[in-house]
Amino acid sequence: MTAKLILGTEIREAILEEITAEVKQIKEKHGVVPGLVTILVGENPASISYVTLKIQTGHRVGFKEVQDSQPETISEADLLALIDKYNKDDSINGILVQLPLPKHIDEKKILNAIDPDKDVDGFHPVNVGRLMIGGAEVKFPPCTPAGIQEMIVRAGVETKGAEVVVVGRSNIVGKPIANMMLQKGKGANSTVTIVHTGTKDLASHCKRADILIVAAGVPGLVKPEWIKPGACVIDVGVNRVGEKISEKTGKKIAILRGDVDFDAAKEIAGSITPVPGGVGPMTITMLMKNTLNSLKFKLGLM
Ligand code: NAP
Repeated sequence: MTAKLILGTEIREAILEEITAEVKQIKEKHGVVPGLVTILVGENPASISYVTLKIQTGHRVGFKEVQDSQPETISEADLLALIDKYNKDDSINGILVQLPLPKHIDEKKILNAIDPDKDVDGFHPVNVGRLMIGGAEVKFPPCTPAGIQEMIVRAGVETKGAEVVVVGRSNIVGKPIANMMLQKGKGANSTVTIVHTGTKDLASHCKRADILIVAAGVPGLVKPEWIKPGACVIDVGVNRVGEKISEKTGKKIAILRGDVDFDAAKEIAGSITPVPGGVGPMTITMLMKNTLNSLKFKLGLM
């Protein structure tokens, strides 16, 4: 059996087209477009490339994109003042502070200063609480878990009554996706187990999963014999295991592996996400969706 591939690269294109069409409609009817500001502190090359991709994607879907680059030396007070400025700016619907921040700045303090109704990353405690309550309370599900749920739904996998096992309990992936899958409603209503390093028998839990979501950051952690035949396997792990020369560009690039032994797992699973090209492309896509939704909430369209 060869599993159906769930490709984030394809799903991203479909969602970005839907967002572009909606932005156009809102612009025609209401004369506004979603505004997203990305605050970048310092010159960390990885952060610059993430921010560049976010800005390019924002432009592609028709957003007003503001890139606010600040020097590494900015004080915490000045950064808080900047956030306050964007909290009050009517043309901005989403505020994103690229992490990590320099050591002299308290990240938590900065993230908690963002207006929860502009917190399109979904990390503010108010939005974490809204996610826990579920239903109409939810405004901004965090982007990677939202992408995972969207992939499961768009792949046509039944979630109602499914045994979902989540490997990992981080605040950005494991806990929120587990919480989302147990809510009553579309794309959820599952029976959820979370496993972690304190779990006694990881294999036995994975083996009964109809949907196995793995976010551990350990290459090849999940063995093929842990996968239930026909299961949907979502591999969130992105692990750099070496370097190679790109055939396209001739430049050195990282060799990436997931948390699942993909080649063997695809012969057992019913559907599976590859690494790269699986969950990865969904995170920025869902950031765009959250920013669009922020404007829709404001206009009373949601
Ligand atoms: P994290 O904060 O390091 O959390 C990892 C979780 O996995 C922890 O809860 C840890 O358990 C658990 N874990 C680690 N080793 C384990 C083992 N041997 N057995 C059982 N549980 C184990 O990581 P994260 O931020 O959630 O990210 C996880 C992976 O997803 C990383 O590879 C990351 O790069 C990737 N990721 C990808 C995207 C994307 O594609 N867009 C986004 C976010 C993350 P304890 O709590 O007991 O320590």
